[in-house]
Amino acid sequence: MKSFKIHPSPPVVATTPDQLAADLQPEERSRLSSAFGLVAGRHRRITSISGWVFTGAVVTGMTAFVVPQSVFVWSGIGMVAGMVAAWAILVFRPRLVCPCCANQLNDRLGPFCPECGARALQPAGWLLPRKCTECRRRMWRGKSRIFRIRACTACGLWLDDKGL
Ligand SMILES: [Zn+2]
Ligand SMILES: [Zn+2]
Repeated sequence: MKSFKIHPSPPVVATTPDQLAADLQPEERSRLSSAFGLVAGRHRRITSISGWVFTGAVVTGMTAFVVPQSVFVWSGIGMVAGMVAAWAILVFRPRLVCPCCANQLNDRLGPFCPECGARALQPAGWLLPRKCTECRRRMWRGKSRIFRIRACTACGLWLDDKGL
């Protein structure tokens, strides 16, 4: 008889990764943080280029109110093309992955606070999101995440002073 084995896919967030940032030597930690800084910089640049293209598209659309009727349609085409381009540019943003524990940096939370890096995230309360007892921030989410990612929530590595 054929036997079936179930291979569960690995969790997206390793809540207990093999390697915590605190286990590393300080030099290794700062090497990993600065490597991430380059990725974060690129991520920010591409996001802001996309934002400028989107703004340009909106401005182009607004010119439809002032240009002669003969070129009116081009304002609309320019606006749509610009909006599509702004969205397409985002594809070139690098994936944000922790260089220490390979955790995907998104809105999932592990034991470390993504804002201050302390291992101090408390469980969520009734109607209240998780809270950090160190920096007192709550990890609110709307349609997208509201808190910033400055540290890896899985291993605690400090990643980026400005936050993403
Ligand atoms: Zn915190
Ligand atoms: Zn990590």
